[in-house]
Amino acid sequence: DSGQHSEQKSEQKEEGYGLTMVEDITERQALEGMKDEFISIVSHELRTPLTSIHGALSLMATGKLGSLLPKGERLLQIAATNTERLVRLVNDILDLDRMEAGSLSMEKKPCDAAELIRYAAETMRSMAEQAQVHLVTQPLPVTIHADPDRIIQTLTNLLSNAIKFSPRGATVRLGAKQRHAHQVIFWVQDQGRGIPAANLETIFHRFKQVDSSDSREKGGTGLGLAICRSIVRQHGGRIWVESEVGKGSTFFFTLPLFAPE
Ligand code: ADP
Repeated sequence: DSGQHSEQKSEQKEEGYGLTMVEDITERQALEGMKDEFISIVSHELRTPLTSIHGALSLMATGKLGSLLPKGERLLQIAATNTERLVRLVNDILDLDRMEAGSLSMEKKPCDAAELIRYAAETMRSMAEQAQVHLVTQPLPVTIHADPDRIIQTLTNLLSNAIKFSPRGATVRLGAKQRHAHQVIFWVQDQGRGIPAANLETIFHRFKQVDSSDSREKGGTGLGLAICRSIVRQHGGRIWVESEVGKGSTFFFTLPLFAPE
């Protein structure tokens, strides 16, 4: 990452300690790489059996295979819900791997930014209602050059986080505006708990969460933002967040406008 890169360069300037620091960073990166590879191999092996277990549990939970005692039905439903979460986790890991390897290609075409915003908001409407969060959109009718499904995935990921980390009665805003002659900037703004300065960069790395209880309590995996970043980068854009603890956060990302030849 560019962050680590500049860290490396500045360390090199300091004589004496310089070399050991560089080695430490290289070693750390190698270890991170091995960890990611290990997780990928495990995920790949888990996908088929997990999908099959999930299918069987969901079918049994419906009671169609024979009647169940109420307690048995409840346990099966819990098991089905949890395997569904595992399947989602495994699929997210594999998707992210393929995106980062460049083998999950983006199908870029001209699409209307306003339509993507409306569609993403509609998808998240019931989650917002359940959480009693107001969802306000500011659609921008311009044509961008992007993979619509992947941009909707990015927007719904950001919206889902914004809703998750907001108190009841808060407002989440989703909008876009044109920047320069060739760029659109999207934002998702919340009035939630905010993100400490030390985490503003790391939350975009896989499995990184501000609080280790976030995945348990909020049902996340720590992969959403890594996926968003990978999608935005593959469109030649940039993603970042501005935040104030206790006040809220705004996630921004840029995408290219469609330029007819
Ligand atoms: P997940 O939401 O599945 O945990 P993400 O990669 O989407 O994973 O987010 C990583 C972490 O960043 C979250 O666990 C949370 O700690 C923090 N975060 C993301 N979005 C917000 C937000 N809108 N407000 C506060 N914290 C956030």
